[in-house]
Amino acid sequence: MPASSAPHAHPAAGSAALLAAAEQALRASGVQWTELRQHVFEALSGTGRAVSAYDVSDTVSERMGRRIAANSVYRILDLFVATNLAKRVESRNAYVANVHPACAHDCIFLICETCGRIDHLDDDQLADDLRARAAAHGFVAKRPALELLGTCRACQG
Ligand SMILES: [Zn+2]
Ligand SMILES: [Zn+2]
Ligand SMILES: [Zn+2]
Repeated sequence: MPASSAPHAHPAAGSAALLAAAEQALRASGVQWTELRQHVFEALSGTGRAVSAYDVSDTVSERMGRRIAANSVYRILDLFVATNLAKRVESRNAYVANVHPACAHDCIFLICETCGRIDHLDDDQLADDLRARAAAHGFVAKRPALELLGTCRACQG
């Protein structure tokens, strides 16, 4: 998973290209891409919002026509976070699809407190600076939780 500082594009949330990239990244980790995992990924990537494991299990149960337990969904979400297919949004205790499953950026989430929409930025320089500042304090950073709470463009009117 290279983090490249050169500008490059990522697939759009909810796009077929993102679904294909996610499948490819999971298979590259040696993990099977099952129908259930695909439904979970689609439930995460289709909304533009952070979703809880319970929301995901509701959506997936509806689409598959049988009850999928929240515990099963939790296990898949953990797997997705571990394999870079999804990110946890800490302030929401929820998850979003990662739009760049093939590259390791520390996402900066922009969370609208009015409508719940989540956008995100990637700034490897900023994230690297944060990690370096922590290291200078003798702190071993695992990962930053970078979240800005505020109002999205659509909700400012
Ligand atoms: Zn990237
Ligand atoms: Zn990102
Ligand atoms: Zn909004």
